[in-house]
Amino acid sequence: MRFHAIHLPRFVLVGEGVIESVGKVCLDLGFNKGFSILVLSGNTATKRYGEIVLNSLMDSGFNASLSTIEESSSFFFEKVLSAAQEVKPSLIIGVGGGKAIDIAKLSSFKLGLQFISVPTSASHDGIASPRASLMNERGALSEQAHPPIAIIADVDVIYSAPKRLLVSGCGDILGKFTAVRDWQLAHKLRGEYYGEYSASLALLAAKMVKKDAEMIGKHRKESVRTVIEALISCGYAMSIAGSSRPCSGSEHLFSHALSRVSKTNALHGEKVGVGAIMMMYLHGGDWKGLRNALKALGAPTTAKELGVTAEEVIQALTLAHTIRPERYTILGDKGITPKAAEELAIATGVID
Ligand code: ZN
Repeated sequence: MRFHAIHLPRFVLVGEGVIESVGKVCLDLGFNKGFSILVLSGNTATKRYGEIVLNSLMDSGFNASLSTIEESSSFFFEKVLSAAQEVKPSLIIGVGGGKAIDIAKLSSFKLGLQFISVPTSASHDGIASPRASLMNERGALSEQAHPPIAIIADVDVIYSAPKRLLVSGCGDILGKFTAVRDWQLAHKLRGEYYGEYSASLALLAAKMVKKDAEMIGKHRKESVRTVIEALISCGYAMSIAGSSRPCSGSEHLFSHALSRVSKTNALHGEKVGVGAIMMMYLHGGDWKGLRNALKALGAPTTAKELGVTAEEVIQALTLAHTIRPERYTILGDKGITPKAAEELAIATGVID
């Protein structure tokens, strides 16, 4: 029998000051007073938000404890599993930009518990997706887990995070333009399952960000909500598709390849954005429109702005198709030759 199960978040709360109401949301979701809840946060900037969540839970009568995460690695994953053995939580809450949410997602999945996502920045679509990235010796691995039962996104908190994080989230979202094209290609050439609805949802998020790029670039508070909603919509797209297909194609393969060949501090969405310009060129689409949107946002569009060399871009382009061989994209099975990679990067202005 064939079936397609879809797990989606049950409750989404986006607004100013909503971080204070995490405790109340837990009660509304049916978790009873006295239940034990484990909160995970970063150990620097996001720790104070972890403490706000902790207080909100205690005010609502929960038995809450806080554990800090320095990176999304097996070490911290194990650390949380042993913390969970001690406090026996009924729920895990991840408060942070990415790492704490990743570990909350993976550990709750492993323990058969639910988790709530409380993003403190909007730098990538992991805040609402069923997938988590975990670092090991071979680099970052994307693992299938489950989506949050609820997302509580405080606009004030996310607005006060550095603008660069928000802009990076937009780069991740604009990458859906090429991800969906890659998916359509894999459907046509490989007979891969293609979900029109989830593809449209991912594209809708990308279109919203492209349309509002200038406003978001000015870092207006109103535009923070647009980005959060677009990221959540990408998470839904992945949950509905049952894979990251609508949200991750050749532009993500380029981003991961670049992380392997370069020590750049560029953020995930920054690398994805530059990758999307080049992949859109290969697809024959409106790569200039995409680049203009990134420029309006204040996002990097060149190797120099990413802090990488021309050689690293070329190397990453030629390596990208090997990152995830089962994921068919515009790069094909054989990838791109160094000469074609150089021409592509020059043609799109990524290198001179
Ligand atoms: Zn991404």
